[in-house]
Amino acid sequence: MSRLDCEEAVAHLYDYLKLELTPDLVEEVRTHLDRCCDCAGHARFEQQFLQMLEARVSKETCPNEVRARIVAALRAAARGS
Ligand SMILES: [Zn+2]
Repeated sequence: MSRLDCEEAVAHLYDYLKLELTPDLVEEVRTHLDRCCDCAGHARFEQQFLQMLEARVSKETCPNEVRARIVAALRAAARGS
């Protein structure tokens, strides 16, 4: 039996998706999402949003690695000359 209303479920949604809730709260949020179409839709949207953010973060690490490699190569070249 869940005591969460929609407002509370949405308030916990971010932590729920980031797996940062206590097991009791996870269960309460999950129970609410099972019963409530509005919040379930909201959860799906938030999840896609988080996945998009994570995808973007992992994409942005690539240029940094490339840049670091270029800097290292330049330093090596400067040392060599
Ligand atoms: Zn709801």
